Amino acid sequence: MEPTLGNPQNTIAVLQKYHFNFQKKFGQNFLIDPHVLDKIIGAAGITKDDMVLEIGPGIGTMTQYLSCAARRVVAVEIDKNLIPILEDTLQGFDNVEVINEDVLKLDLAKLAQEKNDGKPLKVVANLPYYITTPIIMGLFENQVPVSSITVMVQKEVADRMQAGPGTKDYGALSLAVQYYASPYIAANVPPNCFMPRPKVGSAVICLTRYQKPPIQVEDEKLMFRIIRASFNQRRKTLANGMKNSPELDYTKEQIEGAILSTGQKVNVRGEALTLEEFAQITNYLTAL
Ligand code: SAM
Repeated sequence: MEPTLGNPQNTIAVLQKYHFNFQKKFGQNFLIDPHVLDKIIGAAGITKDDMVLEIGPGIGTMTQYLSCAARRVVAVEIDKNLIPILEDTLQGFDNVEVINEDVLKLDLAKLAQEKNDGKPLKVVANLPYYITTPIIMGLFENQVPVSSITVMVQKEVADRMQAGPGTKDYGALSLAVQYYASPYIAANVPPNCFMPRPKVGSAVICLTRYQKPPIQVEDEKLMFRIIRASFNQRRKTLANGMKNSPELDYTKEQIEGAILSTGQKVNVRGEALTLEEFAQITNYLTAL
């Protein structure tokens, strides 16, 4: 089967046939540009060996492209009004299964076990922007077996995921993503590639999951508490951020000792520190 969707005319025809009304609360902006769809499939490097999890298939546009490239596609869609549409648009795309669920409530590790024998799957999606971070962090933190995540997100969020120390976009999200995966922005996508047009620019980001984290840290949870403390109060020094954090309970001396152990000055700001330095601070405090 060849994809039939992906251009404005066919999308409008499907929407009219079913009198579909876009639901803002579900972040519905459907792709209507075949070049962008090809770009996403190419960036994800899908082969006939792969099982793909698509989050939010909409009317099935990208699902058709994924079906052609992958061995198997499981698509999770929250909006029950889209289910009869998907049954229609995905007729003949026999390797696709649609699940009508909220992806945040699904046990995706169990789904990977059931549908792919626990082997790593690839996640590909034009994400609903209101839940980008919980979806991506949920995939990483809940140990879902995933080899890569290739997703359309708000441009600004893609920039934050890819940012390095000392830049304006660097923050807790950069560090959290880069602990689990190597990020790469594959394309910038303007609003006119969607229906309806979003108010913001978008980007396709590929996150290739590390087999093991790039740094060694004794207590992962503590490191993320320190990272949060550091960026919650961006203008403060790291030492002050840590001292004021309700999530941390260390003395001024202990905190300063930890910061000095990285070779940085005591008055350094969190935004200057690398992931490795946050790990060093964590390991120093864990060893006390
Ligand atoms: N993939 C389609 C496309 O590219 O044209 C639609 C993308 S649209 C940006 C996001 C989709 O995610 C919508 O179909 C929306 O209904 C669905 N969605 C929103 N929240 C969801 C959730 N919690 N679980 C599953 N799907 C969700």
